Amino acid sequence: MGRCYHGPVLAPHRVTLIPGDGVGPEVSEATRRVLEATGVEFDWDVQNAGLGVMEKEGTPMPAHVLASIRRNKVAIKGPLTTPIGKGIRSVNVALRKELDLYALVRPCKSYPGVRSRYNDIDLVIVRENTEDIYAGIVMPNLYGDILSDLAAGLVGGLGLAPGANLGDEIALFEATHGSAPKYAGANKINPMAMMLSGVMMLHHLGETYAANMLEGAIAETIREGRYVTYDMKAERNDPSAVGTSEVADAIVARLETARTPTTI
Ligand code: NAD
Repeated sequence: MGRCYHGPVLAPHRVTLIPGDGVGPEVSEATRRVLEATGVEFDWDVQNAGLGVMEKEGTPMPAHVLASIRRNKVAIKGPLTTPIGKGIRSVNVALRKELDLYALVRPCKSYPGVRSRYNDIDLVIVRENTEDIYAGIVMPNLYGDILSDLAAGLVGGLGLAPGANLGDEIALFEATHGSAPKYAGANKINPMAMMLSGVMMLHHLGETYAANMLEGAIAETIREGRYVTYDMKAERNDPSAVGTSEVADAIVARLETARTPTTI
C-alpha cells in the first residue's frame, strides 16, 4: 500500500519520553497520541522518573533517565512532583542543571476562542535556568518565573502554556504547569500545554509541516470550544467540559481528517 508523505522519508525520531507523576502520565499519553497522529514516526525511549520511581530506586531521577536524554538529545516530559519538607531539591531544577539546559523558552500566544481579557498576545519569555542572576543575556530565574506565570494567565492559564529547556546540544520540552496532584488519575486536566510543547519539539526536529498541522488542530479545537477541559469554560463546573483523553480524541480526529487525501 502506498502512503502519502509530505517530506523526505527518514528514520523515526528517537526521543526520551518521561511520563512524569501526578497528572503527568495522562497529559503525556494524550500528547504522545497527537504527535503520532501527525504521521511523524517516533521511537520512544520511555523513562520513568518521579515519585513512583523514588520508592523503587531510591531517587526520583535515576542515572538511566539522564543517560537516555544525553544519548537521544531530545526529550519531552510530564510534570514531576517535588515532595514538600523531605529535604529533596526540585527534580525539575536538578534535571535542568545536570544537563546544562540554561535557557527556558516559554511562548505565550493567544488562540481565538480562549476566554481572556486580551486576544492579541504573541510573546516569548526566555528565562535563565541554571545560573540565577549571573547570566547576562536573558531574564533572571526568579523574575522569569513570575513573569511567565503572569503571561500564562494572559493567554488562558496554565493549561495552555508550553515550554522548552535548551542547552547547546540537548532540548527538553515540558509544560509550564506542575503535577496538579489533586487531579491525578481524574482524566480532567488540560493536555494542551504539553501538546503545544510537542509542537515546539516538532519544530526542533525539523518537522515544520507536522508542527503547523498539530498547532492548527489544537487552535481549531479551542476555537470550536466543544472538546475542551473545565479550565477553558466560563464556569469551572460546566458539565459540558470534557476530559483529558477526549481532548486528545478530538485532536487526533482532526489530524486524521487533515491527512486523508481528498478527491475532487
Ligand atoms: P500545578 O501547576 O501542578 O497546579 C496548580 C493548579 O493549577 C492545579 O491544581 C489546577 O487547578 C491548575 N492547573 C495546572 N495545570 C493545569 C492544566 N494543565 N489544566 C487545568 N488546570 C491546571 O502547581 P502546584 O500545585 O504548585 O505544583 C504541584 C507539584 O508540581 C509540586 O510538587 C511542584 O513542585 C510540581 N511542579 C513541577 C513542575 C515541572 O515538572 N516542571 C512545574 C511546576 C510545579
